[in-house]
This record gives sequence, C-alpha cells and structure tokens, in this order.
Amino acid sequence: MMDVMTDIPPAPPSPPLSPSQLATLAELGEERTANVGDVLYRVGDRSYPFMAIREGEVAILDAAGNEIAHHGPSNFLGELNLLSGQTVFVTAVVTEPLRYIAVERELLRSVLFEDGPLSDIVLSAFIARREALQRVQGLGLEIVGPRSSEATMRMLEYARSNRLPFTWLQSDEGLDPASLPVVRLPGGPELRAPSTGEVYRALGIGRELERHEAVDLLVVGAGPAGLGAAVYGASEGLSTLVVDSTALGGQAGSSRRIENYLGFPAGISGSELTSRAVSQARKFHANLASPYRVLSLEPGDGRHVVRLEDEREIVARAVVLASGAQYRRLPVDNLSEYEGISVFYAAGPPEAQLCGAARVGVVGGGNSAAQAAIWLARGGALVTLLHRRADLHETMSDYLVHDLERYGVAVRDRSEIAELHGTDGELEAVTLRDGERLSFSFLFLFLGAQPCTDWLDASIARDEDGFILTGSRANTDNLLETSVPGVFAAGDVRAGSTKRCAAAVGEGAMAVQFVHAHLAVGSRA
Ligand SMILES: Cc1cc2nc3c(=O)[nH]c(=O)nc-3n(C[C@H](O)[C@H](O)[C@H](O)COP(=O)(O)OP(=O)(O)OC[C@H]3O[C@@H](n4cnc5c(N)ncnc54)[C@H](O)[C@@H]3O)c2cc1C
Repeated sequence: MMDVMTDIPPAPPSPPLSPSQLATLAELGEERTANVGDVLYRVGDRSYPFMAIREGEVAILDAAGNEIAHHGPSNFLGELNLLSGQTVFVTAVVTEPLRYIAVERELLRSVLFEDGPLSDIVLSAFIARREALQRVQGLGLEIVGPRSSEATMRMLEYARSNRLPFTWLQSDEGLDPASLPVVRLPGGPELRAPSTGEVYRALGIGRELERHEAVDLLVVGAGPAGLGAAVYGASEGLSTLVVDSTALGGQAGSSRRIENYLGFPAGISGSELTSRAVSQARKFHANLASPYRVLSLEPGDGRHVVRLEDEREIVARAVVLASGAQYRRLPVDNLSEYEGISVFYAAGPPEAQLCGAARVGVVGGGNSAAQAAIWLARGGALVTLLHRRADLHETMSDYLVHDLERYGVAVRDRSEIAELHGTDGELEAVTLRDGERLSFSFLFLFLGAQPCTDWLDASIARDEDGFILTGSRANTDNLLETSVPGVFAAGDVRAGSTKRCAAAVGEGAMAVQFVHAHLAVGSRA
C-alpha cells in the first residue's frame, strides 16, 4: 500500500503529446506493455528510457514509497536526468495496465534537437519536474554533516547550485571530522569526504576530462557568457571545451526569474534559461566539463596551456575567459530562500513596479545603492538605505546624497542586517545587529562584486578591482581581446561590462568572431 503525500507541490501538468508526436516517437522507439505493479525504473538505477504512455497509468514514488506524481495516457515519464545521464532519484510503478513507447536516451536526444515543438513540451516538463523534485524532502542525495563543517557547507552549496535534489542531515554523531560530509547516493552507496567532482561523477553526470586535452577553443566558465561562446564556437566548427568549477549555468542559473531577457515577455527562471542553453551547446557538440576549477593560464605562442585541479591540463589555440564575478552576499542564514523573490541584486523597471508602495531596504553605501534607492523611491516605494559606516559621504558621491534626501529616502548609518524574517521567500522584516527590527517586504543588496580572476597571473592585465581589461584598455584593437593575443574575456569578468545576462551572452557570441579572426591570422603566419 502506497502513502500519498499531499503536501508536496506537484510539477505543473505538461501538455499531452499529440498523436503525431506519439507517431514520431513510435518510429524511433519500441512499443511495450507492462502489468500493474511492474517497476519501470527505481531509485539508484543508472539509466532508463524515455517512456510515452499510450494507455494506462504510472505512479512516481520517492525512496520511501510516497507518491509524488501520476502520469496517464499521452503523458510521458522522465525528468532532467534523462538528458544529463544522472542516477535515477525516483521509482516508477505501473498502476493501470500499460501500453507505452520506450525511446532510448541517445535517440531521444537526437529527436529533441530536430523537433522544436516536441522539444519544447519535453524540456519544459523535465525542468518543471526537477524544480518540483528539489522541493521534495527525503529525495536524492543525503548529505550528512553539521553546520560547523566547512566541507559540508560547500557540498550543500554545490548541490543547490547544481539543482540536485538533496536532504541535509545536520549531524556528526559518531563521525570522524575528516570523513565529513558523508554523502549517500540514491540507491544506497555512501561516499566519505568526497570532492564535488567525485559526487558528480558517482551520480553519472558530466564528462571526465583526460589528463591532457587539446582543443581549438577553451572557455573558462559556463555562465551565460561561456555558454554563448560555446554555442557559437561549436556551431561554427571549432572544437570547443567549456570547463566550470561549480555549476553549468553560472550565476544566472540561480536567478528565480529573469524578466529582462529578450524573447521571454513573461520572464523565465534562470534554471530554465541555462538548462536550455546547456542543451543547445551540447546539440552543437560543445564539450561541457564540470566541476573543474581552472588554476592557471600560461600564455604561449599560438597555444595556451590551462592547468586545472587534479593535475589536468588543456592546450588551446584560443581561450575565452568567462569566469564571471561573485556578488557579495549578506552573511545571514536562509538568504537563498529569499533571493529572486524578495531579495535582489539589481533594481530595474520590473523591481520598481513590484515594490510600489512597499517598504524596501537598500543595503550598501556606494553609488549603485544610491541610484537603486532613488529609482525605487521614484517608483513609489518607501525606501530605507542601510549602510555600515558613520557617514555616507565617505563612500557616495555628494549629488547622490542630496538626491536621496530629495526623493525621501531614509538613511540609516551604522546599520548591518543580522537576520531575515518571512515565509516562503516572502520577506517580512529584518533584525539589525543592534537588535532593532525593521519591516521590509523587499531588500536590494549592493555590496559590490568580486571578479573570479584570482587564479590569473599578471600576464592578463586587470583593473584595480581585478576585472579583466580588454580592447583599447589592454592595448589591442579587438574589443574583447585581453593583453594576451588569442585570450579573450566576456561577461561579468570583463572590466566595464554590463552585468546582465543578455550582455554576457552577446559578448560570449561576439568573442567567437574575434577567435576566428585570431586563428585565421595564426594559420596564415
Ligand atoms: C541572484 C541574481 C539574480 C540576477 N538576476 C538577473 C536578471 O534578472 N537579469 C539579468 O540580466 N541579470 C541578472 N543577474 C546577473 C547575471 O546573472 C549575470 O550578469 C550573468 O550571470 C553573468 O554571466 P557570466 O557568464 O559573465 O558569469 P557567471 O554567470 O557568473 O558565470 C561564471 C562561471 O564561471 C565559473 N568559474 C569561476 N571561476 C572559475 C575557475 N577558476 N574555473 C572554472 N570555472 C570558474 C563559475 O562557477 C560560474 O559558473 C542576476 C545575478 C544574481 C546573482
């Protein structure tokens, strides 16, 4: 007898497959039947085929046997792991006699690349199902370790940024600190103090790099800029490898809703946008490898050597640096629950609209915080600017300090946030370090961004904050070329770039044009 859990938010139902789509799948796959009680796949399996249901019903269960979804005729089984090759997180059991079409994973991938409407239905459902699975307790990885263990916290952050379903058991009872965290994989196997790469590959995801690789184009970072470069590089015939130390998708993958990306008037979640970009890069045979941290770049004459963790090295004829920047976050618990819903890192028209007549906190003492506060106040929000120092003039331009007053922004000196309060990502209030509680519905953080460039040496010229110089500032005619010929920079890591997804994608695409020009000169020489 199965339990039915009613408190799990289900994935939105996917549109049914049309008769012609079922016919397309039938041409590729195999017609099969199954009886009530048959298990089609179970937690921990390495793989399973895509299954489109002609008749009958299937229940999807978590490891404890709780039903988390149900699929019937013209629907299909599967989620993101069908594309990534990840270990299976759920069990599928037949509940009504079943007639279905089974399509092997590789064949499914090829049809998704060719058939736009089918790809839209299947990909959107896979992504929505993964988002729903991430909210199910007791599913996926089990990560065991206390909050005080840095390695445990790193593993949790890694699972979050890779959108892996996981459960965290805050305990170290009977565990040797050197073995933390303990990571239990779906289906049972257990790893002690594994690296993120070991977990990733134990789940069956991601290509393992050889000790030595040689490519035309190496892209460092798989955020929007790196994925943009990968799609254009690979589709234009360059052998292209992208490496990322954390998660395919970069920061954009962590944005709950991107409202200003061209072509998505209703907005799109960062994970959907970047999952689609990753699929597109794979379609053109770009190689994507993660988690691999790049440790150094040794420029060469026509060949650059990039060294990674684990003593791997990649020799590339051209390199695009797209390692992004990290926005400084508030050191408070549960921040990620609020990010993208009521805590933001940029204030544009959608945010101004959202915040009209609401109490809003803007945190930061620089000009960007002031500009955001004024923008939000002009949009009708009741804005308080909080900053750490005694006097705003120490960090902000005079005219902006005056404008804050002019637009009625309240300023609180020496104020630091210690705690956030709210439910389901909706902020209600904050507590300051001195214990005072302030009611805010939204918070905007302008604590500065740090470029991910500490691994580069002085051969790549950078500005005083560490952002990479390109074009005339690096003494080259090519807009995105760095001080080293054949090494380009794109996206947030580049000095003077617009810190936005669309700009990053555009720069990644543009960098490939410069790569072609560079390689053409090299081959004529
Ligand atoms: C919460 C949040 C919400 C946002 N919302 C919006 C929005 O609504 N609209 C918008 O336009 N923009 C938004 N942004 C900004 C947008 O996400 C960034 O401008 C964009 O992601 C920049 O892309 P990028 O590829 O340059 O860098 P990133 O997305 O930062 O990607 C860089 C990648 O490089 C990898 N990397 C770093 N160092 C190394 C190394 N040594 N070796 C290997 N890999 C490395 C990182 O792991 C990362 O995956 C938001 C940002 C955040 C944080």
